[in-house]
Amino acid sequence: MGEVFHRANTRIGQNFLIDKNILQIILKHADISPDDSVLEVGAGKGILTRAILEKKPLVLYSLEIDRSLEPFLGELSDTFDNFKLFWGDALREGFPSSFDPCPNKIVANIPYHITTPLIWKVLEELAEKGLNYFLLMVQKEAAERICAPARCKERYPLGITLQSMGKPRILRLVTPESFRPAPSVTSALLEIRLSTKTHLPNCPLWRRLLRSGFAQRRKTLVNNLGRDFPELKKEIATMVTTLGYPATARAEELEVETWLDLLEVFAKRVDK
Ligand code: SAM
Repeated sequence: MGEVFHRANTRIGQNFLIDKNILQIILKHADISPDDSVLEVGAGKGILTRAILEKKPLVLYSLEIDRSLEPFLGELSDTFDNFKLFWGDALREGFPSSFDPCPNKIVANIPYHITTPLIWKVLEELAEKGLNYFLLMVQKEAAERICAPARCKERYPLGITLQSMGKPRILRLVTPESFRPAPSVTSALLEIRLSTKTHLPNCPLWRRLLRSGFAQRRKTLVNNLGRDFPELKKEIATMVTTLGYPATARAEELEVETWLDLLEVFAKRVDK
């Protein structure tokens, strides 16, 4: 392919990976075999796409929103039969209808501004169908929130959900020079292995409990939940203390197991 000029649009996260060492580290951890069906969100100019394809997975589904990258990705479509490229917004595309077989791994340098909704979407639509491994380049702070343990101020609903399903961990930090154009933030390689298939991401009560528990971070969990579940207002303090926490506890203080216990208690009391 001749030299193709493309002006990176950083507003949609176009910071392309240029660091071959990081690429090798991604491949080492992703450990792609011919049995794997892989999803990549944000193919960009295809550096990671090509590297994944060279590992000969059963299939690679890549999504890319920016059609002007066609000169870079079209060539891969011509070369690799197992490459399925979808143009469009990853947050809007309906995954399951287009992916058969369902990917079991997502390996991607994702657009950082959609990290949280994208991971929720993958959990909601693909985790119960077999996706159980994530290897994602994300902004360092996003990775820290996802891995944040109880009593850490970064703790938030997605991290608690992922921790209830498996083990998220930061493999390494990645400096801005590894990308072109260089982002203004530090990145992190985040690995998540899901060990259990649960319905939690698609459980409306679980989502509501977490959302309302964290609604106002400076308020106590009891106050936050009381606002969203007025019918249980009088009982919530007792529920929380019965689970071993003071009525003054904030949402970030609860361990994953306690959130699961709380779900059980609420499920018995709330009309679905
Ligand atoms: N994988 C390439 C690499 O490692 O160099 C590109 C990574 S770049 C950080 C993120 C890519 O996601 C960009 O190519 C951008 O156009 C694409 N993108 C941004 N928003 C998107 C969306 N909503 N759906 C699909 N792709 C998106």
